[in-house]
Amino acid sequence: MEKEQLERESTYECKKCDRKFRTEKSFKMHMQEHSDADDNRKECPKCFRMFMTEDSLTVHIESAHPDFDYNQYLLKVSKDKVKFLLDQRSSGGVSVKYFV
Ligand SMILES: [Zn+2]
Ligand SMILES: [Zn+2]
Repeated sequence: MEKEQLERESTYECKKCDRKFRTEKSFKMHMQEHSDADDNRKECPKCFRMFMTEDSLTVHIESAHPDFDYNQYLLKVSKDKVKFLLDQRSSGGVSVKYFV
């Protein structure tokens, strides 16, 4: 019983990819990779497709949504990015006021 508990305490499990780590240090380093990846991952605010780089997202927006002012969007979204994206999803549609 005690041994079991010890093993559990010394095992860190990543919720995002189910990988396990022996030490807190390696676990935290791993989680840092996830947060970096999340930051770098780009989502099209118009159709919610995911892109690995800012460049590929920009190319997508220019071809798929030529009327969309992405720079203007970035200015607004940086203020309250999470809330904005959640509002978009929960309303089930695109909120036009952000894009004009
Ligand atoms: Zn992970
Ligand atoms: Zn799009």
